[in-house]
Amino acid sequence: MSGSAPARPKKHFGQHFLHERGVVERIVRAIAPQADDTLVEIGPGEGALTLPLLAAAGRLTAIELDAELIPALEAAARPVGLLEVIRADVLRVDLAALAAGRRLRIAGNLPYYISSPILFHCLDYADAIADMHFMLQREVVERMAAAPGSKVYGRLSVMLQLACTVEPLFRVAPGAFRPPPKVDSAVVRLTPKPPAQRPQADPARIATVVRAAFGQRRKTLSNALRGVLDADALRTAGIDPQARAETLAPEVFVRLAQLPHD
Ligand code: SAM
Repeated sequence: MSGSAPARPKKHFGQHFLHERGVVERIVRAIAPQADDTLVEIGPGEGALTLPLLAAAGRLTAIELDAELIPALEAAARPVGLLEVIRADVLRVDLAALAAGRRLRIAGNLPYYISSPILFHCLDYADAIADMHFMLQREVVERMAAAPGSKVYGRLSVMLQLACTVEPLFRVAPGAFRPPPKVDSAVVRLTPKPPAQRPQADPARIATVVRAAFGQRRKTLSNALRGVLDADALRTAGIDPQARAETLAPEVFVRLAQLPHD
């Protein structure tokens, strides 16, 4: 970044800074920011994505946990556009309050150590979000997009696919980052479904059922769901109690969550 020595990346903040221009350009093209977008970036770091997004949209709100990075980021952004940096852990940020009635377009090369909690946090605010573009561990993107029956199909696949359209976009090799992570990465687009297409069941109940169903992968559904739903209820709903969670489509978990329970 202009005028300042690059920061020494901090492992405990999951810092891997993007330096490959071609990758930055592909991400920005995938996002296709427009002048009236309400853009939010999670973990701007040194600004690899922030500055081109800001140049395209004119304004952007960034949420960064590492206070040390913020002064240089603000200085670099000043000639480019209106950057507001919120110094916070994104998991504590109320995204609906940030949206203030508009729908957010969220982007981020996420810190991999908390990528799943960040995804679930964003899902809690699906109504306030237009779309999300995230760089994640490739393996996480594969889990998010997996179909029933796949080895990597699980809780993350079901919860994300119920709430969003999941589109894996492209892979990114470790060499695109400083320092290079030990894993391959991938960029994914998540588009929250309109409310009418979202599950008609209590979200907390869906979360409970899905967590229990995948908590013990090798167990049959009736065993995994012991204490959450009984086998008779499963049979009444036309669901085989001997089935295993990893074979069931996301919609089946909605049906399970709709069943009467104690
Ligand atoms: N966007 C930059 C880039 O692409 O070069 C940095 C990406 S780096 C993988 C992740 C960024 O998220 C770092 O800047 C890190 O400090 C920040 N971060 C880590 N934990 C965070 C949290 N809980 N809330 C907000 N930002 C966080």
